[in-house]
Amino acid sequence: MRESLAPGRGAGWIEVIVGSMFSGKTEELIRRLRRAQIAKQKVQVFKPRIDNRYSHSQVASHSEQRTDSLVVDGAKEILSLIDDNTRVVAIDEGQFFDSTLLEVAQKLANRGIRVIIAGLDTDWRGLPFEPMPQLMAIAEMVTKHNAICVVCGGLASRTQRLSVSTARVQVGAADIYEARCRGCFDPKLAMDTKPDVSRAKTRGSKKEPRDSARP
Ligand SMILES: [Zn+2]
Repeated sequence: MRESLAPGRGAGWIEVIVGSMFSGKTEELIRRLRRAQIAKQKVQVFKPRIDNRYSHSQVASHSEQRTDSLVVDGAKEILSLIDDNTRVVAIDEGQFFDSTLLEVAQKLANRGIRVIIAGLDTDWRGLPFEPMPQLMAIAEMVTKHNAICVVCGGLASRTQRLSVSTARVQVGAADIYEARCRGCFDPKLAMDTKPDVSRAKTRGSKKEPRDSARP
C-alpha cells in the first residue's frame, strides 16, 4: 500500500480524504489509523469543537466505526497537544477549521509526522468547502470518495440539504442531508421558502441520526 511508502529525507506528509457526506471518509480515516496502530505507530486524532462541550470524544463513521479523539477549538491548539512520540496525526471534519489548518498541517508534516485529514470537499450549495480545496493542493495524497445517490443509485459527489437554512453548516442534523449525484443534486431545494417536507421525509428516511443505532 502506498500509505506505507517512506516520504524521503525524514519528512512527513499530508494525506487528504474528501467526498460528500455518507461517502465513507471517516471510515477510511479509521482504517488508516488502525493500520498505523498495527505498525505500532503512535496516533493522535483531533476534531473541531462544533456542538459538544467535552474535550475527549470519539470520531465515529456512519457505519459505527469509532476511535478516540480530542476536541479542539482551533487548528493551532493541535500543535500544543502533539506528544513527542506521535507519528500519525488524524484530523476529522477538516472543513470546520479555518485556513490556519494549512499552516498546522505543513508544520506537522515538516516535522516528520504523517498527517491525515478528512472532510467535505463541497458544501450544500455544491461549492468548494474551505479549507479542504487548499489542503488538497498542498497534500502529497488526495483520495476522493463517492457515496451512492439515494435518488438514482449513481455515484454521488454532492451533499444535498433537504431543509431550508441560511447557515453554511447545519450541525448535528444528519437526517436532513443525503448524498446525490451531480444530476440529482438540487441546492435550490434548500433555498426555497417553502420546502417540500413530505418529499424530504420519504427520501431522507434511511438516514438515521447517528446516535440512534448505537448499542
Ligand atoms: Zn442521482
